[in-house]
Amino acid sequence: TMRESYASENDSGFKCLNPELRPIVVVGGYGQLGGLFCRLFELSGYQVRKLGSQDWERADEMLADAGMVVVSVPINLTEQIIAKLDNLPEDCILADLTSVKSGPLQAMLEVHKGPVVGLHPMFGPDIASLAKQVVAYCDGRHPESYQWLLEQMQIWGASLNRISAIEHDEGMTLIQALRHFTSFVYGVHLAEEDPKLEQLLALSSPIYRLELAMVGRLFAQDAQLYADIIMSSPQNLAMIKRFHQRFGEAIEILEGQDKAAFTQAFAQVESWFGDYAQHFLTESQGLLRQANDSTHR
Ligand code: NAD
Repeated sequence: TMRESYASENDSGFKCLNPELRPIVVVGGYGQLGGLFCRLFELSGYQVRKLGSQDWERADEMLADAGMVVVSVPINLTEQIIAKLDNLPEDCILADLTSVKSGPLQAMLEVHKGPVVGLHPMFGPDIASLAKQVVAYCDGRHPESYQWLLEQMQIWGASLNRISAIEHDEGMTLIQALRHFTSFVYGVHLAEEDPKLEQLLALSSPIYRLELAMVGRLFAQDAQLYADIIMSSPQNLAMIKRFHQRFGEAIEILEGQDKAAFTQAFAQVESWFGDYAQHFLTESQGLLRQANDSTHR
């Protein structure tokens, strides 16, 4: 079985699916996730070179005969670092491990004419084994030349999940992470404030009732699942922190009793929504009528 072969191969190493591959260069290989992949490649018999932040003077030399380059650097530096990889051998595979996919994939396709694949391991560097861990991947170019890599990760125990970069990113940050996180915090806040829920509901307009339902339904589901979704990418935390910062700025408006600033911010958002503001007002009126009808049935 997969588990047995993992256990028995872990000490001596894993089966090597592409023994002819020239050296693998891991850019950011001294980092957490890059380091983990370096170990796994080495355990599988590949020759591995780590290209750290101090190594760019020697980069041409290190990259000249690379069979594969894997980028695993901080997200905010990823695209500019990929842009430096403009002289790879034509048949070299260019891959990355970034938790966001569209930007890095685009940057890789622009800088390199050969095979390109985007990977997002859905786990942190602290795992004991890759058994049952998921790696999402986005096809870039020449998928036939990196099938062995996908299979190699399966030999490590991972299961592979193909998705488009855009779908991946859309799913990750705003809708899932921020939305669930704000519901989570609102729930924590309610529980701490401990109001009488029946009384709140009695005082609620239908729209507030819906809002409560959206928050409450989260807590009828699996905590672990939501923890995983919210914490799946550093990008999510950055987004949530920006939200937190804006929350703070809005509180300053309140503390200053600054109605002018409030009105100005309000107008900015109104113009950002554009026609959608009016559209959403009408649409929510329709939804609320439906919700109202069904509650009174
Ligand atoms: P990390 O900070 O541990 O590693 C990044 C490494 O890049 C560091 O060693 C840093 O010194 C190096 N680096 C910085 N600038 C560089 C440069 N100019 N040239 C070469 N190296 C440079 O971060 P990490 O957690 O290992 O994350 C790396 C990537 O893995 C990110 O794209 C992240 O989205 C992705 N990822 C991380 C996790 C996780 O849980 N840690 C999970 C999935 C994906």
